[in-house]
This record gives sequence, structure tokens and C-alpha cells, in this order.
Amino acid sequence: MSAASTTDHPMVETRHQTQLLTLLRDEGPMSRVELGERLELPRARVAVEVGRLAEIGLVETAGPSASRGGRRSTLVRLDPGLRVLAVDVGATSVGVAVTDASCEVLTHTVEDCDVRQGPHPVLRRVAELAVKVREEVPGKLIAAGIGLPGPVSFAEGMAVAPPIMPGWDRFSVRDHLGGLWSCPVTVDNDVNAMALGERHAGVARSTDDLVFVKIGTGIGCGIVLGGKVYRGVAGTAGDIGHIRLDDYGPTCACGEVGCLEAYFGGAALARDGLTLARSGRSAFLAEAAAERGTVTAQDVGRAAAAGDFGAVNLIRDGGRRLGQVVASLVCFINPGMVVIGGGVAQLGHQLLAEVRGAVYRRSLPLATGNLPIVLSELGDTAGVIGAAWSATDRAFTLSS
Ligand SMILES: [Zn+2]
Repeated sequence: MSAASTTDHPMVETRHQTQLLTLLRDEGPMSRVELGERLELPRARVAVEVGRLAEIGLVETAGPSASRGGRRSTLVRLDPGLRVLAVDVGATSVGVAVTDASCEVLTHTVEDCDVRQGPHPVLRRVAELAVKVREEVPGKLIAAGIGLPGPVSFAEGMAVAPPIMPGWDRFSVRDHLGGLWSCPVTVDNDVNAMALGERHAGVARSTDDLVFVKIGTGIGCGIVLGGKVYRGVAGTAGDIGHIRLDDYGPTCACGEVGCLEAYFGGAALARDGLTLARSGRSAFLAEAAAERGTVTAQDVGRAAAAGDFGAVNLIRDGGRRLGQVVASLVCFINPGMVVIGGGVAQLGHQLLAEVRGAVYRRSLPLATGNLPIVLSELGDTAGVIGAAWSATDRAFTLSS
């Protein structure tokens, strides 16, 4: 086990305690009677377990619940002083949040940070930001979760051969941060974390089976089945950015050719936007390039919003290709919802229209008849909320 298990953070002792804590996190404060009914536990058992959880500081009893005509009963809730650190490392940014044990974000800070600097500088900055946010909302730290922008072995708590993260391969992020913060740490792929965030606190709250597509610098997808993230055997499920669309397509960052990501995503839009600017076919982008010497995906978005024909076409083309891949996912998984998020998703409705068009044209009516394809509601908090969710799952689980 990692260094994290040698510390004195409160440890769950029974399966019933796990069930109680999870229910309180998912549905909020409840009376002992309700807890017993929901978990089909005898009242005496609930009393014992709640008593023990209060003793170790994970729950507390609060004011009386709304009376159901009889005796007033006291509510049990997760201790409001519990804290979870939630970190979202992107390709070019890092976000650090503190949540309570219900994964409600209490404070959140985001800044630019290049993941290519390697684990030591990036995690040092994460640690500094963590000190700052923890001072803002002090409390007892019970767990931490972090999302990374690459393939992650969830079981080992590390990135494995990540294409855009030099120096991170098999670096034990879990042990490093666990040692620093003296609590259990979960490490997940950033897109899986965002999918979980949307599932529990965002637009997909009532949906057990969903596909979350992140369009950032690259493109990835988180798959939630039966309310749980599906990671695959090694943790690379949902890596749709490298699905090949054309054997003779443009070269991708992964070294292959014709990947979805080589056509669309933040990096591809910036590249094509610059080409457009230089070709003289977009006055808007030419201006952006002249000002800063480069073009970003956001410039392309702004140009498209201003009606720039070339920029609109880039987004339409990209959206159509993304739509092809999403249509295949819909055929394969039959999700209840498709959520599109990530920085480039802010290109918004034009992109959404293209993806919807492609999916509805190419998928079976039975699969799309009731299929919302929507933009993320949570924006840049999806990743930290999902990371907090994984962290509390871990903290509430019986340690073996
Ligand atoms: Zn690729």
C-alpha cells in the first residue's frame, strides 16, 4: 500500500458504513429511519453504525427533519467540516478545488500550466495551489482526487505512456500526492473525471448511461455505464481521438496519420486557423495572426461567431468528422445522453448542430429517438467535481 494508508485519516470499518456514507453523499441528510429503510437495515444496526461514524468524525447529527406527523427525528449528515481536494490537470491548465464530502465545490482556482513541464514542476504548482485553497476553506482533509490528460492506470494511480505528457510515464502521482497530503488519492483520466462530474452534478444527473466527449487540445471520451465509469482493462477506454478516419490523412501528435484528433480539436483548429490566416481567406484570423504571431482555437471560435466564412467551415468540417465518430459510439453503446464539453466546446451551437446532424443521420432511429446531445453544464468544474467523486468513493470504501 501507499504511504497514504499509514496516516490517521478516518477509516471506514464495515460495508454498512460505506453504504451509509455513500447514500448521505448522493442524497443529502436523512433521518436514521430513512437510512434504515433505504438500505434495508434494522434500526439497531443503523444506530450502531451511525454512532461509530460520528465517533470517527465522518457524520454528525443535525436539526430535526420535517415531521411526518409523528415524532420528530434527527437528521444524520456528512460532517460539514470534511474536505476533499480535487485537481484537474489539463494539457495547458490546472484547476484545484476544495469540496465538502458531498462533492460540493467550496472554492476553485484555475491557472495556465503546461503539462509538458513534467510531473515535478506541475505537481509542485498543484501543491502550492492546494495550500492556498485549503486556507480559504479549512477543514479535515479525508481524500484527494486528480484527473490527468492522458491514459491512466486507475488501479496503479499513474499515467501510462501518455502522448502529450513527457516525463509522466509511470510516475506514481498517487503515492507522491498521498505522501504530501496524508490521505487516500485517486488518479483518473481527466475525461473520465468530467464524465463523472456531469453524471453526478451536471446535465446528466438522471442518466446512468452516457457518453461525455471532451474537445480540448485533443479529443477524448468518458463512458459511464450503469452509473459507473467504464475504463476498460488497462484504462484506455474512450480514447476516441486516435480513431483513424483516413489512411492518408494529416499526421497526428501520436505519430499515426488520419486520427480524429489530427482533424479536429484545439490543436488542429489552431493549425488550420493559421493556414487560413496566411492564405488570405480570412481577414479576421489574419488580424489575430498579425497581432500575436499565432492563431488559437478560441480565435477560430470568435471568427466563426463573427460570421467569418472560412472559420465557420473549419468548425463545420470538424463537427462533421466528430459526429461520424459519435454516431459509431451511439450505435455501439446506445447511451441515454451525449454530453459535449471541454474548452473547444465553447464554440457552441454551430458545432453542436453539426454533431447532431451527423449522429441523427447515421444512427438507428431506435438509438436516437430519445437521445439528447447537449453541451456540458458545468464547464471547467466538471473535472474537479468528478475527481472529488472518485476520491470520496475511495475514502468511503472499506480499506483492504
Ligand atoms: Zn493519433
